[in-house]
Amino acid sequence: MRDLASSLRWLSLNTATVREQWDLRAAIEGCVQHGIPGIAPWRDQVQALGAEEAGRLIRDAGLTVTGYCRGGLFTAPDDAGRRAAIDDNLRAVDEAAAIGAQCLIVLGGGLPAGSKDLAGARAQVRDGIAAILPHARAAGVALAIEPLHPMYATERCCINTLAEANDLCDALAPDDPILGVAVDVYHVHWDPKLAAEIARAGPRILAFHVCDWLAPTKHMLLDRGMMGDGLIDIPHIRGLVERTGYAGPIEVEIFSQDWWKREPDEVLRTIVERYRTVV
Ligand code: ZN
Repeated sequence: MRDLASSLRWLSLNTATVREQWDLRAAIEGCVQHGIPGIAPWRDQVQALGAEEAGRLIRDAGLTVTGYCRGGLFTAPDDAGRRAAIDDNLRAVDEAAAIGAQCLIVLGGGLPAGSKDLAGARAQVRDGIAAILPHARAAGVALAIEPLHPMYATERCCINTLAEANDLCDALAPDDPILGVAVDVYHVHWDPKLAAEIARAGPRILAFHVCDWLAPTKHMLLDRGMMGDGLIDIPHIRGLVERTGYAGPIEVEIFSQDWWKREPDEVLRTIVERYRTVV
């Protein structure tokens, strides 16, 4: 396994982690100040600056864009809604290209309004990814399907296991690096098939996200823990991922009403310390 204690070179900040304190410009400066070489911005922040300007700022700061959050969310109750989602994803691909992102994170989307048909929603996701693949290929932007924890299946993302994400890759773009997966320890740590599915994903792993699972969890979305404060065996999962040959970024992504209240410099200092010691 890589020796994280000796180098920050693989560390990346997902800007959601400090989104309540810092806009993108401030997050870029914060990364530079704390020696964090990677950044993964969100669309609203990039759009606020314009993708060209955001890309210029990030490049001038010498940072690598490890991922762009986020595309997908393809599910909709009618054709017009699905078409609009696809069009929005085409724009997301263009923005990802403009900022030089290593991948665009793709979420499934939840149940369309009025529906209880999860299988149908999953088929919509498959069709949505298929629809944007040619544009992603032309733009050279890899798509990383990120399965979310099953507690989000109905409302946010109906792709819930790494097996499903791997199946989608097999079905839509086998042996093509334009389509891969994002492994987020928060979403997959519970999965009894995790080791096998990480091995199966192999070179398809485009992103590795870390945070921690707090017990008890007080909020489904906004109570993620700092690495080391919860119950996920992060080094074990990192070991599984690195055994596939993964040498890419380790992205810290924490949605937390607790950490959003803290001084952002304290948040980044803690991230650096935990990256060195417990990831
Ligand atoms: Zn994630």
